[in-house]
Amino acid sequence: MSMITIPDFPKTKKLKSIAVLTSGGDAPGMNAAVRAVVRYAIANGVAVSGIMKGYSGLLEGQIEPMKLSSVANIIQRGGTVLKTDRCPAFLKRSVRKEAANILVRKGIEGLVVIGGDGSFTGASLLEKETGFRTIGVPGTIDNDIAETEDTIGFDTAVNTAIEAIDRIRDTASSHGRLFLVEVMGRNSGFIALSTGIGGGAETIVVPEAALTLGKITGAIRRGIARGKTSSIIVVAEGPKPGLATRIANGLAKNGFDPKVCTLGHIQRGGIPTAHDRMLGSVLGAAATAYLVSGKSGGMIGLRENTVAFVPYRDVIGKKKTLPKFAMSLAEILAT
Ligand code: ADP
Repeated sequence: MSMITIPDFPKTKKLKSIAVLTSGGDAPGMNAAVRAVVRYAIANGVAVSGIMKGYSGLLEGQIEPMKLSSVANIIQRGGTVLKTDRCPAFLKRSVRKEAANILVRKGIEGLVVIGGDGSFTGASLLEKETGFRTIGVPGTIDNDIAETEDTIGFDTAVNTAIEAIDRIRDTASSHGRLFLVEVMGRNSGFIALSTGIGGGAETIVVPEAALTLGKITGAIRRGIARGKTSSIIVVAEGPKPGLATRIANGLAKNGFDPKVCTLGHIQRGGIPTAHDRMLGSVLGAAATAYLVSGKSGGMIGLRENTVAFVPYRDVIGKKKTLPKFAMSLAEILAT
């Protein structure tokens, strides 16, 4: 684990009361971020409230003042103690205005939003339309947020998937079998790529690069020709889950006898790795420091492994590209 470079945080204190919520898909390490927001705020004399169930809880007024002890014993737990939700109502401008009114009535001056691209879109619109200050912390297992090299939960999800692959490989090599392992990643292949490289997969299928059945069978046949008795293909689920099964059906028609293992939700939860605890802690504290100093309208991410503020406009709706060379490297290492 490389050490994150932590530049000095802003020292000015403009805000006296802030709140924090988690939104969208849960990710291991979110609790470390919540803990960091609460403890950094209190250490700097700033009042901090916890909002339950993301934007839904905000609209329902589920807002409680947090103490140092409110976040005790949570850093090692997956999921999010603040709970999370998807809140379709937040897509409405009038509802966002109501959300800002609720926060203002509570004397809250700024909001830390821990979540993904969708949650940042909501936060950004809330701020643009009402002037209410928000700051984002990237928390998603998919690592699909632009302008940050890493997101909270990605490392844990990849480690979970690799552990599963190691187990599957025992069976694959004992029986001389071909396995397709489907991992998460609707629009992005970061989990598949890292899992594939770290798990020594023969082939990796990602949404970013169309791979024909011919190419997949070619890779398997090359492996067999050089004496491999088992193969593992890592498949990102893509926009329509079940892709691994569809590929397996195609392979079966070409004379193979593949088995499919879909990892599904076991990749989402679990004890956060040391890396995700560190990342959550650093990004949560940095977001709090920036917000309290009056900086808002963006996300705290990692650039060149260094904590950095990035405006929402450079993040939201932007595609984070999968490093092309990593894909070819995976191919080279699998031969
Ligand atoms: P993530 O934050 O992990 O990308 P979602 O895309 O599910 O997760 O978004 C989480 C929540 O953020 C949504 O349920 C909604 O409340 C809010 N949100 C998402 N997109 C928008 C949008 N275009 N406008 C306003 N709020 C949004």
